[in-house]
Amino acid sequence: MVRETRSSHPERVIGHATTLELLHQTVSEGRVRHAYLLTGPPHVGKSTIGRWLALRLNCLQSSPPCGQCSICCRILEGAHPDVRSLQLASNQDPTLGIPIESAQHGSRTAERVISIDQIRTLQRDVALAPHQGNWKVYLITNVETMSLEAANCLLKTLEEPPASTILVLTTGDPLDVLPTVLSRCQVIRMALVPWELIARALSEDWNCPFERAQLLARLSGGRPGWAIEALKNPELLNERQQALTSLGSTLTGSIRERLQLAERLANQFSREPRSIIQILSVWQSWWWDVQLTQRRCTDLVTNVDQSAEINQFAGRLSTDAVTNYLRQIEIAAQRLLQNVNPRLVLEALLLASPVDR
Ligand SMILES: [Zn+2]
Repeated sequence: MVRETRSSHPERVIGHATTLELLHQTVSEGRVRHAYLLTGPPHVGKSTIGRWLALRLNCLQSSPPCGQCSICCRILEGAHPDVRSLQLASNQDPTLGIPIESAQHGSRTAERVISIDQIRTLQRDVALAPHQGNWKVYLITNVETMSLEAANCLLKTLEEPPASTILVLTTGDPLDVLPTVLSRCQVIRMALVPWELIARALSEDWNCPFERAQLLARLSGGRPGWAIEALKNPELLNERQQALTSLGSTLTGSIRERLQLAERLANQFSREPRSIIQILSVWQSWWWDVQLTQRRCTDLVTNVDQSAEINQFAGRLSTDAVTNYLRQIEIAAQRLLQNVNPRLVLEALLLASPVDR
């Protein structure tokens, strides 16, 4: 695995111009709130915005954050004593973010991983004066995973934080956060980032060839963190490649071959159910692209490296057949999640393929 590093502008946030402008103004005018709750899908950039705020507040250069000075470098390296991140296990895999999967891995099912001891440790640290910077910034990610007693304990800090102390909390869904915590924070909702901005950043700041940058940006579904992770770790795309290979069998295989594939996938489902849901979400994304192509919305296609095949099937099949098959994929995923016999579900799906053999 090749670890790529950012070649320039480590302080730059991909997208979220409105959020940055809001925070920039707030700092410039001395109206910084003592607690923010950043909400949005996994890998959209919530922690990045939290780190940017720490840079903006503590960088002493004329146009902060500069990303170059010793303060910025220490914050970016996670080595600044006044900028702390509560390191928590996230229950969000860096997988492709597709609706079918989120039905199974929603944040509401998150394990309770932030303990009261972690919050007490944080509170002891909050009480100390800043070591080096002007501001102490605490980033607490996936705040919905706090235990109830940890959340109640945190309330004290949220109510009466020391001066020059800011808490930045993040969550996927504000409805998962205790109302008492929510009401003490300024909530900032973070939207998905247009793929063009992600592709440009990968290309300019990470030296990624544009074609690959475009593919990763589109696959990311608007989440720059996912695209960067896929850039650093190409293995993240292996699952997609396997899903595309099996998709090929559903497009060109005989009925017998499709039934064999259904059996293989059903066996795999018994060992790794998540991987089969992932395969179906890749298939769904591919068939969405066929539908988009039929509707002449090719600029919205995700799987740009598959354009030739997608165009071929868009021209060959009726729009009704494609729409119906997309529905079949969704139904199959739902049934698998409801524990219906996987072999029956997958056989039905593969035999319903709109491509005649
Ligand atoms: Zn700086």
